[in-house]
Amino acid sequence: MPEALLTSHPFIKVALPVPMRTLFDYKVPKATALRHELQPGMRVKVPFGNSSRLGVIVALSHTSDWEHDLVKPLTSLYDEAPVISAELMALCEWAARYYHHPIGDVIFHALPVLLRKGEKAEFRTENWWFTTAQGQAFSLDQLSRAPRQQDFLKAAQQHPNGLSQQAAAVLDLAPAAGKSLEDKGLLRREPRSFNKGGERHAHQTQVPPTLNPEQSRATDHLLDHRHHFHVALLDGVTGSGKTEVFLRLIENLIKEDKQVLVMVPEIGLTPQTLKRFEVRFNTDIVLMHSNMNDRERLDAWLLAASGHAKIIIGTRSAAFMPAPNLGLIVIDEEHDTSYKQHEGFRYHARDLAIKRAQALDIPVLLASATPSYESLANAIQKRFAWLKLRNRAGNAHIPQMERVDLRGKTLIHGFSEHALASMKLCLERKEQVLVFLNRRGYAPTLMCHQCGWIAACDHCDVNLTVHKRANKLHCHHCDTQKALIHTCPECQSEELFTVGEGTEQIETQLGTLFKDTPILRVDRDSTQRKSAMAKLTQKIHEHDQAILVGTQMLAKGHHFPNVTLVIIMDADAGLFSSDFRGMERTAQLVTQVAGRAGRAQKAGHVLLQTYHPDHAAIECLCTLGYEHFAIDGLSERKSLSLPPFFHQVIIRAESSNEQEAMQLLTAMRNDLEPLFAKGVYLVGPYAAIIVRKAGQHRALISIKAAHRAPLHEATQRMTDWLEQSTKHHKIRFAIDVDPLET
Ligand code: ADP
Ligand code: ZN
Ligand code: ZN
Repeated sequence: MPEALLTSHPFIKVALPVPMRTLFDYKVPKATALRHELQPGMRVKVPFGNSSRLGVIVALSHTSDWEHDLVKPLTSLYDEAPVISAELMALCEWAARYYHHPIGDVIFHALPVLLRKGEKAEFRTENWWFTTAQGQAFSLDQLSRAPRQQDFLKAAQQHPNGLSQQAAAVLDLAPAAGKSLEDKGLLRREPRSFNKGGERHAHQTQVPPTLNPEQSRATDHLLDHRHHFHVALLDGVTGSGKTEVFLRLIENLIKEDKQVLVMVPEIGLTPQTLKRFEVRFNTDIVLMHSNMNDRERLDAWLLAASGHAKIIIGTRSAAFMPAPNLGLIVIDEEHDTSYKQHEGFRYHARDLAIKRAQALDIPVLLASATPSYESLANAIQKRFAWLKLRNRAGNAHIPQMERVDLRGKTLIHGFSEHALASMKLCLERKEQVLVFLNRRGYAPTLMCHQCGWIAACDHCDVNLTVHKRANKLHCHHCDTQKALIHTCPECQSEELFTVGEGTEQIETQLGTLFKDTPILRVDRDSTQRKSAMAKLTQKIHEHDQAILVGTQMLAKGHHFPNVTLVIIMDADAGLFSSDFRGMERTAQLVTQVAGRAGRAQKAGHVLLQTYHPDHAAIECLCTLGYEHFAIDGLSERKSLSLPPFFHQVIIRAESSNEQEAMQLLTAMRNDLEPLFAKGVYLVGPYAAIIVRKAGQHRALISIKAAHRAPLHEATQRMTDWLEQSTKHHKIRFAIDVDPLET
């Protein structure tokens, strides 16, 4: 580094994991060698208040806005090279501005937990055992009185390239015996970097199928645009071969030595998904998801950062994975709401990925059978290329959707007679039925027959869900759990009964209706344990006839080739909700669940139980399909000035006091509204649909504008105002840019 630079940066600007939207200045001690080494993206230890903190250097600076004598010197440096590349630093800075979120929190979100805690950015080391020359020639008979040492030396002699600690453990060799052999000069130990941590060596075993004409067209288009920023929406019905298309694209980029980031929904990363990559590529694949421990995550992060891992598959937070040769980002099931973080740093991984790709000048591929209205609008306006696959790959057919009118019908455990008769026929053909109900637990309500008491959460304005198997009452909003009771706390009556049904109840009742049929429930409760989902899918594949009962978990990513009948128990639930996104979500869910039927050779059939068979929306979805439905929905959004045609920011506030959150937002509106540019609209403040959650009273205000610039300016003013006003209050506030929920 030139001499001039050494002395010209006496200050650094540091991001700290604190809820303040600012960087902190520190001095670089004059006489140290540190100045040579400092670079943005490195971690430093700095004094903060009465203690010290780990921070990340965001910039080197010639000056400080603070009185220079008040600026404290940094304490020490953690890294010899940046842990956040310039590329990712720029992405974090953009995200902090766009989402109006504290920069420190954004940068720390981008780092694996262990790096936030000061762990070295290095692969863990592991001891390896080697024989010495003496040890290699040593006769094992001489160790006959020390059988453990004999075993150990024998194994070491058989592994002239060394025996890893892990391998020694697998072979059941005693470390103490190794130590004794080391003392005798027969073995030596050497620490080696464990850089094969989260890595998977794939082995290409599968010959790819010949693409059909639709797939070829899409693939050719994507290949033509593979070297520059280009967003394509691969809009293909379930089973149309979207994955096959992006595997082709990935194959080409890997040949060019690029890295590829594949994003999948939170619970969409099934063993089946991974398998598809493993059988196709002779390259290293790393995973990044919430089921990995901190060390596994750091190893995966390091493999990606080193450029070694060519394919990186991960959920939301993988949008921040380092990848020095990144050449493509794929976002599978791009409509999935798990890409949006709903608390803390409320970013959308899809939007962030697009921004990242733009900065890197690389392509992004969004894939879905039910694209989000946002992406569809972009495709219609030609900002995204729109690649359609309208036929199922191979010989599979699109399932037929039939409405079942529930009006005036007698229901048996929530099923119409028609649904039950169809199930019976399906099972007789030795095929599988999928029953979809987006409500887990046994029943959503527990009530007293004598006095009408209802079991409600003490901390939220919601009823407690009955979970019979676990013998619990459970709040699905704050996670409060209580023992299931059998006596009314108000009137001591023992006549408590449940209202409504959840998946657990349906499972039980189907068991009495279809006695010899295996019934498998798939929801958050039945898949809590780590390998539970894998076991369930295995069971599903083992049986011929079976009934699967589940929530939206069943709609994601799984292939159940023998499912030929899908029953949507309650199609009305989401369509008539108060949220303007209810229609979009329900249509996506119904279409995705329906898409599980008839994926192999057999034709599929979907029954939609509804009290509104003639409702235009339901009719459109059943007869014309998702695309029509969505285009109608978009024109309605346009006429109502709703997203994606208007941009929206929601500011949420919560306080333990019943009034405070509402009062704060009202005061803010009164102070600031006169200052807003024309075309910025405020709605509220109003109470959240569930006002009290986890003991906090929640209020919100919505800001809308046709253009981003005035909206962001208004948001900035409000953020500043709130930061000032809440300094001495216990009110928490959050900014939600492009919110997905109200
Ligand atoms: P999607 O991702 O759209 O749901 P997939 O890529 O998973 O679709 O394809 C569905 C099934 O069809 C898979 O089993 C896949 O191997 C198979 N498939 C895909 N493309 C073809 C093709 N061109 N010819 C034959 N089978 C195909
Ligand atoms: Zn009672
Ligand atoms: Zn609660």
